[in-house]
Amino acid sequence: MSERQVFPAALFDQAGLNRQHVFAIDALPEAIRSTLGDTENFRQLILLGHGGKRLWACVQAAGMVGEHPIDDYVVQTVAQIFAEHFADQKYRIVYPGDGPVGLQQLGKLAGWHHPSPFMVGIDDEWGSWFAYRAVILADTDFLPFYAVDRSNPCPSCSERPCISVCPAAALANGEFALDKCIAYRRQDGSACQYTCLARSACPVGSEHHYSEAQLRHAYGISLRMIRQLYG
Ligand code: SF4
Ligand code: SF4
Repeated sequence: MSERQVFPAALFDQAGLNRQHVFAIDALPEAIRSTLGDTENFRQLILLGHGGKRLWACVQAAGMVGEHPIDDYVVQTVAQIFAEHFADQKYRIVYPGDGPVGLQQLGKLAGWHHPSPFMVGIDDEWGSWFAYRAVILADTDFLPFYAVDRSNPCPSCSERPCISVCPAAALANGEFALDKCIAYRRQDGSACQYTCLARSACPVGSEHHYSEAQLRHAYGISLRMIRQLYG
């Protein structure tokens, strides 16, 4: 590739992967680089995320039926875009995958992540309705990205409805009590089996609130993990 290219954001936007950031691998902190495996043949790390409802609609439209429909869709979409537009560039997907990639660390560097009381990242555009979807190593030469400059809405939120609505009082003491949250979610008839009432109570970015089906999918995964670990 002789000239630096503009990242093809529209291709990923259309597919519901509407949060993107390109990093130079050389400029990443060692703590992140060390989690990526062999990076020798790659120059850039592409972080993809989704914000809001579009990705789930795309996954449904694509008819993904496996156990991990979002991951399967993302891997398929990345393969398609590279095959059709960047066939000469090598790439390797490190997330989704088994490696311990620091997604929130990358999110902080990209300006996406601010901590919320319920331990999900938040910003003042999407609220908490976004997630990390792919980390790709590539030998692309896209123009570099600058971190987005969005503020954390929590410090100026005086009413803090997320804290008062949690039925387990898991946010009540100034730090997130994961044990209380898990104990409540495991209960028969828990209102948080397939959602987080605290997250839903936050007014920031509420227009991007996931559909019930998307919530059921996302929280169903964590509920299965809780049941495997704690019965
Ligand atoms: S309700 Fe307020 S404190 Fe809670 S996550 Fe939303 S902005 Fe932050
Ligand atoms: S899932 Fe339920 S119990 Fe856990 S933090 Fe959210 S509101 Fe509280």
